[in-house]
Amino acid sequence: MTSTGDYSSKTIREQAARRRTFAVISHPDAGKSTLTEALALHARVIGQAGATHGKAGRRATVSDWQKMEQERGISISSAALQFEYRDAVLNLIDTPGHADFSEDTYRVLSSVDCTIMLVDAAKGLETQTMKLFEVCAHRNIPIITVINKWDRPGLEPLELMDEIRERTGMLPTPLTWPVGASGDFRGVLNRADGTYTKYTRSDGGASIAGEETMDAEAAEALEGDAFTTAVDESDLLEMEEQNHDQESFLAAKSTPVMFAAAVLNFGVHKILDTLVDLAPPAEPRPDKNGEPRPVDAPFSGFVFKVQAGMDANHRDRLAYIRVCSGVFERGMVVTHASTGKPFATKYAQQVFGRDRAVIDEAFPGDVVGLVNASALRVGDSLYLDQPVEFPGIPTFSPEHFMVIRAKDSSKYKQFRRGIEQLDHEGVVQVLRSDLRGDQAPVLGAVGPMQFEVAEDRMVQEFNAPCRLEPLPYTIARRTTEECVPTLARERSVEVLSRSDGELLALFSDRWRLQGVERQHPDLVLEPLVVS
Ligand code: GDP
Repeated sequence: MTSTGDYSSKTIREQAARRRTFAVISHPDAGKSTLTEALALHARVIGQAGATHGKAGRRATVSDWQKMEQERGISISSAALQFEYRDAVLNLIDTPGHADFSEDTYRVLSSVDCTIMLVDAAKGLETQTMKLFEVCAHRNIPIITVINKWDRPGLEPLELMDEIRERTGMLPTPLTWPVGASGDFRGVLNRADGTYTKYTRSDGGASIAGEETMDAEAAEALEGDAFTTAVDESDLLEMEEQNHDQESFLAAKSTPVMFAAAVLNFGVHKILDTLVDLAPPAEPRPDKNGEPRPVDAPFSGFVFKVQAGMDANHRDRLAYIRVCSGVFERGMVVTHASTGKPFATKYAQQVFGRDRAVIDEAFPGDVVGLVNASALRVGDSLYLDQPVEFPGIPTFSPEHFMVIRAKDSSKYKQFRRGIEQLDHEGVVQVLRSDLRGDQAPVLGAVGPMQFEVAEDRMVQEFNAPCRLEPLPYTIARRTTEECVPTLARERSVEVLSRSDGELLALFSDRWRLQGVERQHPDLVLEPLVVS
């Protein structure tokens, strides 16, 4: 048996070529959940990680953490959903929508090859969409834009294109153009061949909408001015050379655009077709040194998300791995790159299938949920036979800081275990110093809601009620050991060490930082950049 088991290189390459691994980025309320359901309706769901967990059809016991998620109506945890559509296998990685969880979202985005930017037709590009867009742009992730809620009155389509162009710098290249103004969604002009796809409503949103494609003549006879307006506007786009170009799309310089109404299932087939036809498949992923790991090399992957068990009865930890090369086979023993230790995937079955169908294999682009993965951290690489380490996943510059203490000193052990777990999962960053001691570490967060999650989990999951006290810092800079004595003499400045070994100097505000920089121009005070 070779290192890739029973699979030939050809099989692995073919399977990788079938994969489309993507995420939907949007501002809350743009319709991400609705679109996910619509995609599931149109494709065949073959696997689900994290959404349900248990016997067929039975919802899992939800953890308190998830309860909080439900109460607030926001998505905190991430999961992956696998669909089959035409000959492709689509992996949709869910991203948290709330701004405070953007750090988590950034990590999730490291696992995808493409994103769908979902835009509310009435609102245009909203703040959270822009933030997420910037991460994608930074990583050169190709973006497909979907203008959603076209069944509701909204902005002019050309106006939306201008907004995308101006605010993202990407050239919008519509694949479809709406026939009927927003609020009067009749169908779309397919710009590539000039045909018209008419949509008809089905009862409610739970069934696939009717679609009929006809030539321009028939379309004009049917829709009159609405169709000719669409053709005229499409001609204007043509003049501006806003036509799809695969190369510039893959380089994230242009974005194909489609119009949809997810709630009515209008335009959903087109989104799926576009993913299959245009989105990049799983390709050789560059390692730490920039060397691409061929997809048919022995198994390798990296952890992009660690999460406490979804099942309240099992306090296990799940590590989500994006497969980069080879085949993941349940039960195989892989090497954990950062420690060099073997990691047995005996308990690594994907117990998430709806029918509890254990998925025995996963190919490049797929996501595997490993159970009992307490040794794994976000960013860690795993491999079989041929060592490889993928680039680390960036941690972000925290902007909020709190001291955390156990309320009940007899629960110190639980307290310590909880802190360690939250640190591993990257729920918050844990910062320490000799001065503060282990009893009162500092938590750093990008958004204050991360503290709520941390506190809630300390109580519910680790039985370690705690007290949080805010610290007056808002800025963190990376520094070095040599600078510590100088910084320690400055007022309103504190140096703490993060568990990844970075030394962080904390400042109350920008002015304080600038003051220190002016006084000590030789100090190392670097921003913690997104890489
Ligand atoms: P998310 O926060 O991005 O996941 O958004 P949801 O999928 O929960 O949708 C937010 C709201 O918008 C819900 O009330 C949906 O029913 C509604 N919605 C989603 N898509 C559409 C659409 O295409 N048209 C209309 N009119 N409403 C939609």
